[in-house]
Amino acid sequence: MAAPLLEIENLRVKYGNVEVLHGIGLTVRQGEIVTILGANGAGKSTTLRAISGLLRPSGGEIRFDGKPVHSVPAHELVKLGIAQSPEGRRIFATLTVRENLMLGAFTRRDKAQSARTLAWIHQLFPVLKNRGEQLAGTLSGGEQQMLAIGRALMANPRVLLLDEPSLGLAPLLVKAIFQTLREINQTTGVTIVLVEQNARAALKLAHRGYVMEVGRIVLEDSAEALLADPRVQKAYLGARA
Ligand code: ATP
Repeated sequence: MAAPLLEIENLRVKYGNVEVLHGIGLTVRQGEIVTILGANGAGKSTTLRAISGLLRPSGGEIRFDGKPVHSVPAHELVKLGIAQSPEGRRIFATLTVRENLMLGAFTRRDKAQSARTLAWIHQLFPVLKNRGEQLAGTLSGGEQQMLAIGRALMANPRVLLLDEPSLGLAPLLVKAIFQTLREINQTTGVTIVLVEQNARAALKLAHRGYVMEVGRIVLEDSAEALLADPRVQKAYLGARA
């Protein structure tokens, strides 16, 4: 089995005085796709924001490649290989598609390497090439989502954190984007942590999954086992009890 790349132990996060993560633990191995499922407000985005350094934990530990990183600033984490594609596709609306992608490479010195990554992203998402000079704010929702993923990939990450890539997209587009994520994982071996409301699509893509409820992990298993679990089916897959 591959070595753990990301290890979270007893992680606590507060907003002001209110604790929203009550000591969660999870492990993601090198090359894995791991999904975090849960209802609205369960703490999924908060978990991702803590991993990418956008939030400081109030307790516990986050280790990346064996080293504690929960006090490392977000821009340093990008250099170490942690890149997040944020919820709501927070792209820079007034910059072009190409400029947005190049910003994703801000930590990389090697221009030739960045150009190769850009060519690869253009292959994965041809629309980003065709619309390179278009202002990002005028892209459709699906195109903006591709741009957000592409921008995170420009950092050449070891782990890609994705917050709700299916949000607001038509089912066919969700399928296409998830297929591309599988391809990225298989061809580059990049580790993926995927937060999703679309539990079925996420479990079909992922190797393993965690289920969160109000700031705690309540289930952890292979994606296959979670898909077959009556509790998951009832709560997250729309099956009748
Ligand atoms: P969703 O699927 O709706 O995005 P989530 O599982 O990602 O939900 P979080 O966004 O992590 O949930 O929120 C967890 C809890 O923390 C919620 O109760 C939310 O209201 C609260 N919360 C999130 N962001 C803030 C904030 N900036 N200030 C105060 N409370 C917050």
